[in-house]
Amino acid sequence: MDIDLLIKNGHVLDPSNNINGKYDVAISNGKIQSILKPGNLNQSNIKNELDVSGNLVIPGLIDLHVHVFPNRTLLGTLADNVGIKQGVTTVVDAGSTGVKYLNYFMKEVVENNNTRILLWINIASQGLCEGLSELADLKYLEPDKVIEAISNNNLIRGIKVRMSSSVVKGNGIRPLEIAKNLSQKIGVPLMVHIGNYPPYLADILNLLDAGDVVTHAFHGKKGGILNENGYLIPEAEKALKRGVLFDVGHGTSSFSFKTIKRTKELGLNPSTISTDIYNSNLNGPVYNMAITMTKLIAMGYSLEDVVKATTNMPAKVLRMENEIGNLRVGTVADISILTWKHSPIKLKDSMGEEVLVGKYLVPLYTIKSGEVFKCNE
Ligand SMILES: [Zn+2]
Repeated sequence: MDIDLLIKNGHVLDPSNNINGKYDVAISNGKIQSILKPGNLNQSNIKNELDVSGNLVIPGLIDLHVHVFPNRTLLGTLADNVGIKQGVTTVVDAGSTGVKYLNYFMKEVVENNNTRILLWINIASQGLCEGLSELADLKYLEPDKVIEAISNNNLIRGIKVRMSSSVVKGNGIRPLEIAKNLSQKIGVPLMVHIGNYPPYLADILNLLDAGDVVTHAFHGKKGGILNENGYLIPEAEKALKRGVLFDVGHGTSSFSFKTIKRTKELGLNPSTISTDIYNSNLNGPVYNMAITMTKLIAMGYSLEDVVKATTNMPAKVLRMENEIGNLRVGTVADISILTWKHSPIKLKDSMGEEVLVGKYLVPLYTIKSGEVFKCNE
């Protein structure tokens, strides 16, 4: 059989399929055709080869929380700059748009980038296009329009609700109740942003079910998942047991080394690792997905854990694990090729805390549906 692309000699790592070793990956028609020990391919017509000796070959990275609507929002950045140019095959815009600007998002963002772009639609119609207090007036919540949008557009994988004081103002927990009702009605998950209270995290968590995602879960602000004594608040423990998911969502001000070190000791680990990247944190503290992954490794997580939390786990959240997020034969040929750069680097969290490590991950190539893109230097 013809092979469109053979990725040779890399170290292939897909923890969700127990693949960890030196393999060649053959791609045809945009799908994974086979994974073989090097040299075991015979009688095939190979159209293109990519030799990645010494590098890491993993399922295409999925960034579950980004902001990529630059024309309409102040914080938005170009999707390809944080996607395929950084080793990330799929980005999920987290609420930059609601129903009101969805058509613009499709035309200006989805159709104009090579990165696979999905969305959490903002429960507020204007999304982040008219300022950052989108839930301060409940008239912007138009559930029927959200239902219609989701049923007509399968790039929308869930609903984003930002539950912090500056966003909801006097409305408290009400926007989340409306969003939860909607999510139950149509069977899509919620991504809930947490930050400064009120509303209180306990009240937020009590409304969430298995498959819902709390982003910025490891922030270092007051009122987070740890109480003043450094223990999980009971609602977080219960939410964890119910299957609520805790996402990193690094961002400018939402990731604390201190918090994650402690939650790790307590057995609450990130289900997914996302960047919450936008134009003002691209040059620090976030930089890109590979640096964010390196930070989690610096916190004591294994490379396997980190790869799983950036590939297979987000694919599950999106209910797309049969298409993306792993290297099973027959799935979409979305692949990220990274390497370790052996050079000391100081990694900084959102609180200004630094850790020094001796190596960090750098993206080399992004392969999306079998097409090769070279990453930024
Ligand atoms: Zn965000």
